Amino acid sequence: MADAYSLVLVGGRILDPKTNRDEVVDIGIFDGKIVEIGRNLDTSRAEDAIDLSGKWVIPGVIDPHVHISSWIGEYPGLRMMASEGVITALDMAGPPESVWKNVKEHGSGMHIACLDAITQGDQEEESPSKGRIGEKSIGRRIASALERGALGVKILGGHYPLTPETTARIIREAKRQGSYVAFHAGTIRTGSNLEGMREAIQLSDGNPLHLAHINSYCRGYVKDPHLETYEALQLLKGASHIWSESYVNVFNGTSGKCTNGQILSQVTRTCCRVGGYSEDEVGLGKAIRDGFGHVTKMKGGMNVLVTGEEGYRYWKERGTDVTMSFPVNLLPVQIVLASAKDSNGSFIVDAFSTDGGGIPRNTMVRHALDLVRLGVLSPLEMAQKLSTRTAIMLGLKSKGTLSVGADADVTVLDPQVGRACLGIAGGQIIMVEGRVVGRGGTLITSAKGVEKVKEWGLPFQIMDPAEALPRKQF
Ligand SMILES: [Zn+2]
Repeated sequence: MADAYSLVLVGGRILDPKTNRDEVVDIGIFDGKIVEIGRNLDTSRAEDAIDLSGKWVIPGVIDPHVHISSWIGEYPGLRMMASEGVITALDMAGPPESVWKNVKEHGSGMHIACLDAITQGDQEEESPSKGRIGEKSIGRRIASALERGALGVKILGGHYPLTPETTARIIREAKRQGSYVAFHAGTIRTGSNLEGMREAIQLSDGNPLHLAHINSYCRGYVKDPHLETYEALQLLKGASHIWSESYVNVFNGTSGKCTNGQILSQVTRTCCRVGGYSEDEVGLGKAIRDGFGHVTKMKGGMNVLVTGEEGYRYWKERGTDVTMSFPVNLLPVQIVLASAKDSNGSFIVDAFSTDGGGIPRNTMVRHALDLVRLGVLSPLEMAQKLSTRTAIMLGLKSKGTLSVGADADVTVLDPQVGRACLGIAGGQIIMVEGRVVGRGGTLITSAKGVEKVKEWGLPFQIMDPAEALPRKQF
């Protein structure tokens, strides 16, 4: 028995996919770690104890795809995620400095890692070699991302496409440098759709890759969305080096930015087209006024979606530079991607995600619980997709499990209400009944990023990105 506990969680139903534990037991926490699991822990030796009768206790929820930088999402995302029970999150665009600054000034006590986007500079965009980045430049950009504290890089092909050759080179170079790499599929040859996804797997050429938000490639842009979903799952089944997530929300996320009357993001153009609007600034404005395009706006410290005249005015006020959402994800597709398994019983899409943070759709925990209520997932399967498998994907070895020695990251769910009611990060309570009480946060970086990350004066954890995205066993 441990000598003392800072906190004991008493009488909750513990769901731990890693040890296959599903039983009512207590959890003892000390110094940021789980130190004991068992019946009737001695709460007289605890500084604090919480009765969790009737509640479900799962390893701290990890969201592998969020946006909380000044570029995309912004700082309210930190509180928005924590209020939904998320404990650890990976920002998918950076820049790292902005992510760390937001954690420092507006943090909600969470554990935060980030990737740095590889896009083209403005000058390159103007040049005739559009979409191309030289070999040396790719190497430098990845090295710089790691040195600045990111775990690696994100390729934003679906929005800002590169050539297939440049894309393949980035994935190869990431592997060589021991860097994490994620890809929103699409190149100048394909798009953010099923063809882009098929191409992405080819371009990865057996190298580890995080293929972002599979739902984006199953929106019916190439053929029937149900057929696309089936084909997307077939593609993933054969690819043991590809890790993926999907989000469970009707809204996508993209940019409303226009220059010289033209929409910059390919995704936004496609949304206008499928909504029956012209693919330019005029068409986008009309889509917003009509209530099809939704604009992200900060209200009361949180980001919300506004549309119609209010959305249109805000988009104009901000010179079109806003985050936007369109209702393009079909519910049956969301459910199939969330639950599909291969013949060994493993989930084909590895993890739940939100692509949220500051984009208001942090609904993954609620909707995972909905899927349990519907009988689509068992409670243990839900915990696997919300945390355990995600931790393996991200190479976070001390997370994703409720076992002795693991980080004391815990999310408590209220199955009656259908949402998270308590969040604990490294033994500290950061959320109670949806109210965020955590501050600051812990930065997750690699050995190469430690020096820069230290400058922020926040606690940090070191992991090895080369151990993320391990080859899957079938
Ligand atoms: Zn994203």
